[in-house]
Amino acid sequence: MCNLPPKFHSVCRLCLSFCGDNCSDVKLPIFDRDKDKSRLSEMIITYLSLMVSPEDMLPQVVCGSCASKLDEFHTFRELSHKSERLLVQFVQYANSLTGPKEVGVFK
Ligand SMILES: [Zn+2]
Repeated sequence: MCNLPPKFHSVCRLCLSFCGDNCSDVKLPIFDRDKDKSRLSEMIITYLSLMVSPEDMLPQVVCGSCASKLDEFHTFRELSHKSERLLVQFVQYANSLTGPKEVGVFK
């Protein structure tokens, strides 16, 4: 066993916030108990390029504020991907009408 203080594992993995027993900010588990992946762990890996694993000995919780930021990242990602799809469709449609030599749709 290592000599980490017990509260080490109650610190937010992403911003190190810690609040005591009376704190209203709920800490959310990064991993589901019965799975080694979860929505939160996937967002941390994808959007923050941090490796998290249930076996890594680091705190396994994040605070509500960090969880909402991850949700905002996710929403923004979905929006930007949807925008890209629409823009590509628009260019394809314009090309189908005029041919690629006269694209100029954004002039
Ligand atoms: Zn946090």
